Amino acid sequence: MSEPRFLQVEFWKGECRIAHGFGTRQPGDKKPSRMDWKGKTVSAGGEIFPLLSLRQVHGDRVVYADGNLQKAEDFWQMEGDALITRTPGIALGVFTADCLPILLYDPIGKAAGIVHAGWRGSARGISRKAVEKMKELFQTRSSDLWAALGPCIGPCCYEVDEPVRRAFSSENIPWDLISRPRGEGKWMLDLYEANRFLLEGAGILKEKIQALKICTSCRADAFYSYRNADKIGGRQLNFIALRKDSEVPPG
Ligand SMILES: [Zn+2]
Repeated sequence: MSEPRFLQVEFWKGECRIAHGFGTRQPGDKKPSRMDWKGKTVSAGGEIFPLLSLRQVHGDRVVYADGNLQKAEDFWQMEGDALITRTPGIALGVFTADCLPILLYDPIGKAAGIVHAGWRGSARGISRKAVEKMKELFQTRSSDLWAALGPCIGPCCYEVDEPVRRAFSSENIPWDLISRPRGEGKWMLDLYEANRFLLEGAGILKEKIQALKICTSCRADAFYSYRNADKIGGRQLNFIALRKDSEVPPG
């Protein structure tokens, strides 16, 4: 597997205490799956991070990675759609092809999280639940948190139907805010808006949420897109890691 190219959000480009990246399509016909990454590392800015990732099931389970790397294997077997940690030196990863990857960073509490948010997870409030878990386990203050939303299928391409509308309605996410009608029983869904609503609802400040707003389906030349071309295989890795070498010795 050749080294993939990663995109970054502007507001973390000068941030030396974390490494992060949103993956892109690899050159040629390669279609790496999640399992191609198992046991691999991510290198960023001269540091090498063992990669942890869950079996993504479009649910709302948030898993705490306590940094015991003997159990790295366990994480790859475990079901869940969000990972959170306070342990420097490990990369939390999610794999996407149209779903929305969300990175969370608390620079004060020195904690990070990652979320895999498709429509099912978003309708179940996965991004809000990841923030709630960071508050509960790490005493993170939501006003300290930053959120970066990566490339995903945009409202230009993401047509959905009635079961999707119903799923969002049952979680009190305002449908008018996150979709626009597209003929009888069809809507264009905006995963960015849905998750922005959830993250702001969890207390993250508007100015601390940044979205790349690149549509993976429009740009299937640059990203794996499930709806466009990559039903079988082809997932981009998205990751965040707290850096070890940024730890300041006490005293
Ligand atoms: Zn599009």
